Amino acid sequence: MRRDADRLRREARPWRLLFVVYWLALTLGTHWPGLGLGTKLQPAPDKLIHMLAFGVLTLLLSRTRWMGLPWLAGLAVLLWTGLDELTQGMGVLRRNITYQDMLAGMLGVCLVTVWLWALGPIGGRANRVRLRWRAFIFADLFCRRDGWLAVGAAAGGGGALVGAITWLSASGTRHALTIVFLAATVGAMSAAGAIAGVLYNRHARRLSLQHPCFACGSSCRGVAFDDLGRGRCPVCGGTVHCGQWSHSIDERLSTPKVRSVVIAVVASWITYWIVMEIVSRFGLTRGLVRWFDTLAGDLQLALHLTGMGLIVAMTVRLYRFQLSQSYDGQHVRCRGCHHSLLKTPLTHGRGVCGECGTEFVLVAPDQVTE
Ligand SMILES: [Zn+2]
Ligand SMILES: [Zn+2]
Repeated sequence: MRRDADRLRREARPWRLLFVVYWLALTLGTHWPGLGLGTKLQPAPDKLIHMLAFGVLTLLLSRTRWMGLPWLAGLAVLLWTGLDELTQGMGVLRRNITYQDMLAGMLGVCLVTVWLWALGPIGGRANRVRLRWRAFIFADLFCRRDGWLAVGAAAGGGGALVGAITWLSASGTRHALTIVFLAATVGAMSAAGAIAGVLYNRHARRLSLQHPCFACGSSCRGVAFDDLGRGRCPVCGGTVHCGQWSHSIDERLSTPKVRSVVIAVVASWITYWIVMEIVSRFGLTRGLVRWFDTLAGDLQLALHLTGMGLIVAMTVRLYRFQLSQSYDGQHVRCRGCHHSLLKTPLTHGRGVCGECGTEFVLVAPDQVTE
């Protein structure tokens, strides 16, 4: 199934606009003559700001679809991070090139790139159809102004609120700005994520009634399906599956899933600290530890956050792999009660478990939807 060019442009346009505006603003900020944040008594977390700023640039570039694969976007921003820092050495700007700033920016780029991979396509046919449906809903949500306004307002409001509350208790301490920055970032991301989740579920319900073609977005209601559930989009001619909008393809996060993710995240953080403890006691790495100790405090924090972020990304990828297997095998073993479905009859590539009533789909081999 090829993605319709008009649809692709429509989905990418807001991201392209945002990327260009953000890129210009970031370049202006990093080259502003003599710009320094914070005071001597309360230093600003420069390195964490670099990490976040270039991480966001990577995310935006990958959403513009100019670069194709996420790691190409990551590579492009990685080169830009180096160039951006080198050009700050121009005398008139009264700024210094610090390789530590550059390293911090690059950590952000790498972290975001690995996360894009961790959350990227995975699994077999049924799971890919499920992911296409999710990606379609998400992209459609951000084709709308109200989607952007709601998520943007939540990020701004959440960040400001959590930042202000943290400021009240942390102000006066030496690391106040670092703590406030981290808290505000977490607040903004959580609020934006929560609102995006609510909007996503609402939008998913609305779109599932319209049966949109994933390639061009036209409604496929009334399309005829063959025995395997295959049909053709009346507008672009792309293949659609009669179960691609069903609940067996898309399920919300349930409490046990969230719980297992939380356990996995905590376990990976503990693993990270154990590995760090072993490394710091290991003779051969003493040089590395000495180098680490010479770095700015907030760069050390940025390195730890990257290490933990990478481990959690791996865990998420592993979890998604297991989840994909249960979606891909949904026509063999019921996802609800594990009853065998091999003898259960199918109509148009869909069936219902005789034991518990859970719906399932079978996606034909020629319906690979990349
Ligand atoms: Zn179509
Ligand atoms: Zn069942």
